[in-house]
Amino acid sequence: MTPFVYDIPLTVGFRGLTRRSGVLFEGPAGWAEWSPFPEYDDAEAAAWWRAAVEMAEDGYPEPVRTSVPVNGIVPALPPEEAAARAVASGCATLKVKVAATGQSIDDDVARVAAVHAAVPGARLRVDANGGWGLRDAAAALRELEPYGLEYAEQPCATVEELAALRRLDPGTPIAADESIRRAEDPFLVKRAGAADVAVLKVQPLGGVRACLRLAEELGLPVVVSSAVETSVGLRAGVALAAALPDLPYACGLETGRLLVGDVVTEPLIPVDGVLPVRPVTVEPALLERYAAGPELTRFWLERWRRAS
Ligand SMILES: [Mg+2]
Repeated sequence: MTPFVYDIPLTVGFRGLTRRSGVLFEGPAGWAEWSPFPEYDDAEAAAWWRAAVEMAEDGYPEPVRTSVPVNGIVPALPPEEAAARAVASGCATLKVKVAATGQSIDDDVARVAAVHAAVPGARLRVDANGGWGLRDAAAALRELEPYGLEYAEQPCATVEELAALRRLDPGTPIAADESIRRAEDPFLVKRAGAADVAVLKVQPLGGVRACLRLAEELGLPVVVSSAVETSVGLRAGVALAAALPDLPYACGLETGRLLVGDVVTEPLIPVDGVLPVRPVTVEPALLERYAAGPELTRFWLERWRRAS
């Protein structure tokens, strides 16, 4: 297995990143992506490794659907830019980022209002990435209630806060993301009554089959999201969404648009809010174009050696 290290600029800042990098490699079942975020330690990167090995060696389970609805993603931008981004996504479901550092609840409400006005009839959800305390979360969700949010994703950082927020009956369902994928015990969310919806991501949770088992054991409705990957990694997310027995919500797999380019001939970019369930073909010229420089390559290959 020859590892290729990619380095692709983002079109818009995302979780403090301006570029995305990782390792791509080909196994008997196809291409795989291994791209744990740079600050994650080896222990946390190990689940991402199991997911990549599954992509390369086992491929994907049988799909039960041929396409997957996705949400457009709206970063924590000023209202006008947020609205433009929402329209450009072409999606009928939009996930609006909220609770960004240095921003207020008023900023968040203005962004959601602008998106609501720009895409009439859209289904809206927000993602706070754990950025609100309990009191702010309750206040923000009260203000956002007129927009009929599908759910609020990780409004607070801890499972205890999520559970306390749910007990306050905030009028909006609560989804857990970080509380599942970065938790030592992903079932704590369920036992604590901390979530109505589970957000599952293939790489951080150890692969498509591991996510299918987790979904069954959690017994919560599932939203499949990406970890901002190339189409090689997105393909695994699509495979999970395609194999889940129930898929009541649009998935967070529109992130291909956050990258200025991709490594496959036909990137997994949704059309009219839908992604097809299909293989992707890595293009050697694109691997070349987005090859990382020597320093970043060294960083990833050292990481790769420790993981493999
Ligand atoms: Mg999230």
